[in-house]
Order: sequence, then C-alpha cells, then structure tokens
Amino acid sequence: METTLLGLDTDELRSVMKAEGVPAYRGKQIAEWLYRSGVRSFDEMSNVPEALRIQLSGKYQLGRSTVLVGQRSKDGTAKLLLELNDGARVETVGLPYPDRMSCCVSTQVGCPIGCVFCATGMGGYTRDLTAGEIVDQVLTVQEDIRFERGEADARKCRIDHVTFMGMGEPLLNYEVTVKAMRLLNKEVGIAVRQLTVSTVGFVPGIHRLAEEEMQCTLAVSLHAPTDDLRRRLIPGMTAWSVAELMKTCREYVQRTRRRITFEYLLLDGVNDGVAEAVELARLLHGLNCHVNLIPCNMVSGLTFRMSPREHIQAFRNVLEDAGIQVTQRMQRGSDIDAACGQLRQRAGDATP
Ligand code: SAH
Ligand code: SF4
Repeated sequence: METTLLGLDTDELRSVMKAEGVPAYRGKQIAEWLYRSGVRSFDEMSNVPEALRIQLSGKYQLGRSTVLVGQRSKDGTAKLLLELNDGARVETVGLPYPDRMSCCVSTQVGCPIGCVFCATGMGGYTRDLTAGEIVDQVLTVQEDIRFERGEADARKCRIDHVTFMGMGEPLLNYEVTVKAMRLLNKEVGIAVRQLTVSTVGFVPGIHRLAEEEMQCTLAVSLHAPTDDLRRRLIPGMTAWSVAELMKTCREYVQRTRRRITFEYLLLDGVNDGVAEAVELARLLHGLNCHVNLIPCNMVSGLTFRMSPREHIQAFRNVLEDAGIQVTQRMQRGSDIDAACGQLRQRAGDATP
C-alpha cells in the first residue's frame, strides 16, 4: 500500500527523504508544499526535481480527499462533503467571519456516542480519521474559500481558527486529535489557542488533555445539568455522572489555567426550563467558564423542536444573574444542511 505523506510532520518527512536516498532538506520543501501551499499533486512541487517527483509519486500518495458535494449559504458558510481514500465520507465546514476564518473539522467517520439530537449520531460509527485526514479538511476549506474569493495566492487566504466540532468525538480518537493539532500549529501555522476541541464529556480524555500542556481551548457539550436528562440525551456516555464530569472540568481548569466553554443545546420543553438553568448555574458556580447556548438545528427524523426565544432569554437571564458569562451561538448556514451530519444524511450515505 502507498504511504500517505499528509499527516507526517517536517521531521518525519525528512526521515522519509533520507530513506529515499535524497537530502533531508527535501522533507522541509515537501512539508511546505503540503501544508502551506496545499498542493494536490507532486507535479506542483516546482522546486523538487522531476526525477524525485516521479520517484515519490510511485511510492507515496499525498492523502488529499475529493469534494463530493458543496453547499454555500448566503452568509458565506460552506459545507463540504468529502470522500476519503477508502470511500468513507465526512463533512467539514468553512465559516468566514469579518475578522477571522474558521473551519469545523470531523474527527471520526460517524460517531459511536449516538446523541439523540445529532444527525451524525443517528448514522452510527464507521472508523476514526487519521491526522492527515483532519488536516486535509482545513486545507480543503481554505482552498474552497480561496476559490470563492478568486484569490490566486494560497498564502493570502488562510484559516486561523479550527474547531473540532464536526462529525465524531475527538477525545475517543485522542492521539490523532492531538497529532492533528500539532500539525495545524507547527506546519499549517495556526495558533494553538485558536484550536478548540469539543467533547461530549469523555472524562479520561479530558484528564489526558489537561496533562498535554497544550494551550488549546476545551469545549464540553453538557446539554443537561442532571444525570437523568443527560442519560436520555447522550445515551452513549453514561459511564460518568454529571458530578464526575464537573469535578474533572474543575481539575482541568486548575491544571491548565484555561477557561472552559460549556455547550448547551436548547431543546424545547426538554432541557430549556428555568429549573435546568438554576441547576446549571449551581454546577458552574465559581468555575472559570462560559456557557455557549446553541439553538438546535432541525434534523430530519428527529422530533425535537428549537427552543422559543422566550425560553432562551429566560434561561440566559438565570445564568447571567448568577454571574455566568453566556454567549449564544450564531445560527449560520441555516439555509443549508447546517447541523453536523445532515449533509451526509441527505446525500444518502449515513453508513458508507
Ligand atoms: N462529539 C463532540 C464534537 C462534535 S458535535 C461533541 O459532542 O461535543 C459538536 C457540537 O454539535 C456539539 O456541541 C453538539 O451538541 C452540536 N450538535 C449536534 N447536533 C446538533 C443539532 N441538531 N443542532 C445544533 N447543534 C448540534
Ligand atoms: Fe457524537 Fe458529538 Fe454528535 Fe453526540 S453530538 S453523536 S458526541 S458528534
């Protein structure tokens, strides 16, 4: 089988070159072509001699995906369905803002957790992604935005924020997620603080991340302040109680001195009452955190409704009165299949 180069860092690419009997500095050149210029073929590597390009292309593949479907929202949000080398399909999203360009990446093909509100969860789990496949999503979104803007120079149109909030649970694909973050930082050039890992609350993964000494941002998808409710919404993560999860989060903040974001998806009449808000405020008391309230996207086949504005406001008021900082996720891409897993679901490929 051909070895894939995307996913290897500069040092590893140097070793590959040495093994090929060519000077190690070629590894640095290839890393720049892969991660900075985002090339899709060996032929584009103009400072690499043709003979070496031919030698490498017989033995290695770059590891880029193919865009199968692309949807662009009026607000600029671009959702891409990508096909990987084995035919598996994942989604990635590009979110251009006036002051930054963000990309939301998938970490698994599907997801084993099966949250009842999530289109990805409904489709089951196929496999973990590789670090190269995660980085490829960022490069592909960057290319898409460049194309959209008619910008010829790859270096002028760069993603500067990456959220690990697409399909899959990043902390269940731990090593790969950390490797992808390191590649995005060192090779692609994105600041570690601009990398956000979103977890459904996999406690051992949060402990491990705390020891990593990485200044990335952690987001915890809490969605419920009580065990009963959380079990109902997130049936695949029942091994840890809300109390254990909160204890872990407190330890994380203490160890890393980083603020945690708690994501809370609001589902009408399910978890959006004042009683839940009061309980949530109690849980978060004194913790360096903020809460991101997420309006639920409609997913076909599910019966949940989006919380009405009055519920959201009342929920927000309780938290703010308790001194907790609250943000509300902007609803972007609402005219396309914006919720994670929806595009793949519509493309009829929930179980590739
Ligand atoms: N598995 C991780 C990361 C991927 S899911 C996690 O659960 O955190 C990323 C975010 O998408 C989560 O906060 C999840 O709650 C949210 N999400 C899932 N289904 C959604 C829907 N129907 N509407 C809005 N957000 C949704
Ligand atoms: Fe998996 Fe996150 Fe979707 Fe839950 S919300 S099924 S953990 S991707």
